[in-house]
Amino acid sequence: MAIAEQEIINETKIEKQDKNAAKQILLDEAKLGLLLTEKGINYNSEEIKKFQDQFEQTSDYHRHKGVTNLTLPNGFTARYLSGYSRYTPYSLVVEEGGVVLYDDGKRLGFVTFPVTHPITEKLLSNGEKFRHIANVSEEGGISVAYSSECSLKDRGEDCLFCSINERAKDGVLNKVLIKSPKQVAEAYHLARQAGVGNFFRLTGGFVPERRELEYYIDVAEAINERYSSFYGVGIIGAPADFSVLTKYKEAGFTNISHNMEVWDKNIFAAICPGKEKRNSGWQHWVDSLEYAVEVFGQGNVHSNIVGGLAPLESTLEGIEYLASKGIVCHFSVFHPEKGTPLEGYRSPEASWHWKLLDKATDIFIHYGFTTLQMYSGPASGPHSGQVFQIKKGEFEGDRLAQYKYPSLD
Ligand code: SF4
Repeated sequence: MAIAEQEIINETKIEKQDKNAAKQILLDEAKLGLLLTEKGINYNSEEIKKFQDQFEQTSDYHRHKGVTNLTLPNGFTARYLSGYSRYTPYSLVVEEGGVVLYDDGKRLGFVTFPVTHPITEKLLSNGEKFRHIANVSEEGGISVAYSSECSLKDRGEDCLFCSINERAKDGVLNKVLIKSPKQVAEAYHLARQAGVGNFFRLTGGFVPERRELEYYIDVAEAINERYSSFYGVGIIGAPADFSVLTKYKEAGFTNISHNMEVWDKNIFAAICPGKEKRNSGWQHWVDSLEYAVEVFGQGNVHSNIVGGLAPLESTLEGIEYLASKGIVCHFSVFHPEKGTPLEGYRSPEASWHWKLLDKATDIFIHYGFTTLQMYSGPASGPHSGQVFQIKKGEFEGDRLAQYKYPSLD
């Protein structure tokens, strides 16, 4: 072999070793994110205040005050953190003009806090603030919860982990209980003009099926008055008649999601009594998801599981079964919410959530889903999307960049 050829081989080997080492650093940071969620962080809120977005901190929309969202030293964004704790090895210290994360005295590096997009303060034509209608994501999309209540509460059939109806009691947090299709389309237009309308997620509480379909179609039509197409997901309950799924597709939704929340049949019925009773039961949800793949295509159909409400084995079985049918089943980290029947319960330890994250992302890669599909479902996806990207080598050096949706314009 020529010397030049040998040199190229050696360089490639070193690059591979560097890439693998960087991958491990980033995967360790993903694990750290789960540990921060489990154990909380110690900090002096007065000291770190000036580094935080004041809108984030003072907004009534920020339900859990304090540090709930952090970008870690190598770029992994840890969300849904449990906030302040006195009894934790993790702490935030202000030094060298920034905020540094420590683990039991070991300096881990600088962290940053989320910044609210300025568009959220804009007014719609009827005087309503953008932020009362939609949220802007760091990935460059918007999310709309069209209703601030779930009608399942009237029957006492709310999902046991869900705090939507608790939050709805707070009029400050929920200025607009039902958002009109016109308001949603106007917010979408503003977002798209600002370059953050590259993904549109429409979700909300439970409403009778017919009204749900009409509402989603009205919203899509209102958007289509200005745009020939949009990229986004409609999060809906499993319909009685699967053929209506085609109507969502024809209206312009490119992705659809039925959030099952729990895979185990019996635990599903116990935790989500309304979803079990009002949508013809567990099997019907699964059948509808499978039907939706015929309409929307592989990887464009989504579900969600609340990670930690059922055993790991059954959760992974569900994720794998659905993936084998072309359905991306995202998952969150269960966080017991105040005022819900599960208040005071505990989520499993970080090591449990890591096993779920690690094995589920292997499944997603095995079934050939794309990075865009990892970010195109319910809002719970970001941590699995990031680990998916790390495993696929989608990072530079040892830094994971913030994912952004492809631009539509
Ligand atoms: S159906 Fe959705 S909004 Fe209603 S209680 Fe269940 S999770 Fe919450």
